[in-house]
Amino acid sequence: MTQEPKQTYYEKNKETILKKKKIWCDNNKAKINERQKQYRINNKEKIAEANKVYYQENKTAIDEYSKQYAKQNRDTLREKEKIYRANNKEKIAEKSKVYYDNNKVKRNENTKKYYHENKDQLNEKKKEKVKCVCGCVLRKVDIKRHQTSPTHIRIMDELKLYGRQLTQSERHNQRTTCECGCIVAKRTLKIHKQSIKHINLMEQQQA
Ligand SMILES: [Zn+2]
Ligand SMILES: [Zn+2]
Repeated sequence: MTQEPKQTYYEKNKETILKKKKIWCDNNKAKINERQKQYRINNKEKIAEANKVYYQENKTAIDEYSKQYAKQNRDTLREKEKIYRANNKEKIAEKSKVYYDNNKVKRNENTKKYYHENKDQLNEKKKEKVKCVCGCVLRKVDIKRHQTSPTHIRIMDELKLYGRQLTQSERHNQRTTCECGCIVAKRTLKIHKQSIKHINLMEQQQA
């Protein structure tokens, strides 16, 4: 003789129980929230630890889910973030200041430690030479400053005008045509412009 498998009270009345539970929950929302909040406060460390373990065990799936979620909700999240930032400007500023201050010592130590551990390598790097587009060979760390220097600018002008860098004497004798029509040595242009000759010629042009 076969016997119906015995059902527990819960299984038999599952639907009714769940319905009742839902009604009770709906009626006691505030109480439940308060209780959950208390529980979270009282078990902060326990929960954090459990979360950590859970994360470690499900790392791949969670990371993938977060990635997908972020991708699908990019605009919403960005908008939310923007609103949060706008509403919490002072709080955020204060927080970053505290963080900055708290980590000052640590940061300095890290920098020091990093420098110490990589001293040789860093020194080598500093000595590393590179060739600038103008043809100058200099240390990599100096190149940015060099590229705004008069030397670099002058060489680049020469390359554009003559296709090569001028020699010292060529540069010394380099001539240019003044707006008055005179051909003068470039280095004397400033003085020339104050000369009677230049002033007269300019006056004639304007007349
Ligand atoms: Zn250069
Ligand atoms: Zn002139």
